[in-house]
Amino acid sequence: MKKIRQPIIAVLGHVDHGKTTMLDRIRKTNVASKEAGGITQHIGATEVPIEVVKEIAGPLLSLWKGEIKLPGLLFIDTPGHEAFTSLRARGGSLADLAILIIDVNEGFQPQTIESIEILKKYKTPFIVAANKIDRIKGWKINENEPFLVNFKKQDQRAQQELETKLWEVIGKFYEMGFQANRFDRVQDFTKELAIVPISAKYGIGIAELLVLIAGLAQRYLEQKLKIEVEGPAKGTILEVREEIGLGTTIDVIVYDGTLRKDDTIVVGGKDEAIVTKIRALLKPKPLDEIRDPRFRFDQVDEVAAAAGIKIAAPGLDGALAGSPVIAARSEEDVEKAKQEILSQIERIKIESGEI
Ligand code: GDP
Repeated sequence: MKKIRQPIIAVLGHVDHGKTTMLDRIRKTNVASKEAGGITQHIGATEVPIEVVKEIAGPLLSLWKGEIKLPGLLFIDTPGHEAFTSLRARGGSLADLAILIIDVNEGFQPQTIESIEILKKYKTPFIVAANKIDRIKGWKINENEPFLVNFKKQDQRAQQELETKLWEVIGKFYEMGFQANRFDRVQDFTKELAIVPISAKYGIGIAELLVLIAGLAQRYLEQKLKIEVEGPAKGTILEVREEIGLGTTIDVIVYDGTLRKDDTIVVGGKDEAIVTKIRALLKPKPLDEIRDPRFRFDQVDEVAAAAGIKIAAPGLDGALAGSPVIAARSEEDVEKAKQEILSQIERIKIESGEI
C-alpha cells in the first residue's frame, strides 16, 4: 500500500538568527481543540500533524488551492547546516525541505550564504523566514498572530521599515541567483523563493510558515514522499548514544517503509556494515508521564515513515551518526543492504578526500 509520508524539514541559518527559538515555537504550537490532537515529540524530531496546521492556518489555507493530503510535517530538532549535510539519504540530504532563517535586521551573514550554497548544491527546496520583525521600531506585538493580520495593525512607518529590510534581503538573493519575494506577492512558487516575515519569539507568522511549507511539500515533492508503507524501513542515524540500562543505542529518522521490532537491521559504521537484531524500538514518553528518569521511553512494535525512533540492539558501538540503517527481512536483503552501505561509506570517503 502506498501512502504519502510527512516531509522531513531542516532549519538552517546564521548563528543567533533564531533557529532554536523557531523550533521551540513550533513545538509549542498546540491548538486548543482536542480533535486536532497535538504536536508529537519523536526521538530527535517534532511532528506537526496536518490537523494542527489546518487549525492554526484557518482562512490562510486558501493560499493553497486544493486539498492537502500530507499527514503532517516532521522537523529535525537539530538545526544548522552541519546537521543538514552530515545526515544523508539517497545520496542527498535526509531533509526533503528546509527553512532558511534570516534575522531581518542583520540581513545576510556568512552562514546565511553558506546555507544557501549548500541548499543549492543539494537542490533542496526551501522557504525563507525573515525573523525578529518585532524588533522593528514601534512594532506592535500580538502573540501568535498570522503575519498578514499583524502587519495590517502596524503604523505606516513600521510597515515601511519592514519593506525596506525585506528589499535588502531580496536584493541579496538576487545577487545569488534567486528571485525572491514576500510570500503573498509570489506569483509562481516554482520560480520564486517565498519569504515569510516572522517573530519566532512571539509566534507571529508561524501560521503562514507552516501552511507554506506544507503546500510546497505537497506540490513539489508528492512523488518523492509517496512510499510503500509496508516495505522494509530505511533510515539515517541522527546520533549514537549510551543509555542507562540499554547500552549503546542509535537515534534514527526513518524515511521509508516500516521498521518492526523483530527486524534485522544493517547499520553503517566507520568502515563496516553492522548486522544486528533489534532488541527494542523506543519512543519518548510524554513529558508529564516521566516519573523516573531511568524510564523515559515507551516500547513500540513498529514505526512507519516518517518518524524519529531510538533503536536498542547489540553491537551498535561502531555505528556512526549520519550513516544509513536498512531493515532486512531475508538473507538476500541483508546482503543487498550490506553492499549498499559499504558503497556509501566508500563514496563519502572519496567525497571527503580520505581516499
Ligand atoms: P540560533 O543560534 O539560530 O539557534 O538562535 P537562537 O534561537 O538561539 O536565538 C538567538 C537569540 O535571538 C536569543 O536570545 C533569542 O531569544 C533571540 N531571538 C530569536 N528569535 C527572536 C525574535 O523573533 N525576536 C526577538 N526579539 N528575539 C529573538
